[in-house]
Amino acid sequence: MRILKTIAEAQSACARLRGEGRILGLVPTMGALHEGHLSLVRAARAVSDVVVVSIFVNPTQFGPNEDFSKYPRTFEADCAMLERAGVDLIFAPTVDEMYPAGASTFVVVEGVSDRLDGASRPGHFRGVTTVVGKLFHIIGPHTAFFGQKDAAQVAVLRKMVRDLNFPLQIVVCPIVREADGLALSSRNRYLSKTERGQALVLHRALKAVEDATFSGEKSAQRLVEIARAVFAEEPGVRVDYISVVDPDTLEDVADVRDGALVAVAAFVGSTRLIDNILL
Ligand code: AMP
Repeated sequence: MRILKTIAEAQSACARLRGEGRILGLVPTMGALHEGHLSLVRAARAVSDVVVVSIFVNPTQFGPNEDFSKYPRTFEADCAMLERAGVDLIFAPTVDEMYPAGASTFVVVEGVSDRLDGASRPGHFRGVTTVVGKLFHIIGPHTAFFGQKDAAQVAVLRKMVRDLNFPLQIVVCPIVREADGLALSSRNRYLSKTERGQALVLHRALKAVEDATFSGEKSAQRLVEIARAVFAEEPGVRVDYISVVDPDTLEDVADVRDGALVAVAAFVGSTRLIDNILL
């Protein structure tokens, strides 16, 4: 496994591999890796000759009062985990490497970037699309792997790939959860023992919504009320949003059709967690 820190090294290594006819799979991450990330690596391993994982805590996707500086950084452990998982290349640039002084070009996917997390975190998806666009240019993957955990991110990136004609395919992998239902997240390590228990309310609310749809409930408004009632049982948790949307446009739907996305975001103490289900 090679660890590349500069854009020049990564670009030339990947260009050479592509030139040799190898199929490149890219898994973009911010590190602090867990089983969710590893599921993407395994999916990449299954269809690629060369698996590239990027580790970069991207400052442009964090708001001024968010957790950029305290975001967990566990580089040594991440590398060991990726080596065991059979990764070929790690691309781990510094912030200055990715954003040299004076960089002022951003990728903005209008509309969809302002919904769900984009509404709660202004500018977040502009940072995501900018960094992922750069990674696509640097690595030139045939396939890029993302988690359904970040459902809004998937919608925004799919649109970016379509609108800007990136010559690659996006593969979306299912949400990996703890045995009790909590979706794995690098931010789960911020949770105290009490908060870890409270955090289960996200999954419980989504389950209640799913159960209601199994019993025939179709009204998005009613499903949101059902989720809200579950959150109300956990007063330590503050809901950011509960939305029933079209998974591609992230626009609200009135009725649940096949494929509607139910997405929730909530603050457990000061930690913001997200989760979702596709109906
Ligand atoms: P992050 O390091 O949080 O930026 O995540 C990197 C990638 O891993 C993103 O595509 C996430 O959607 C994905 N990911 C994070 N958590 C999970 C999870 N629990 N299950 C599946 N994929 C995940």
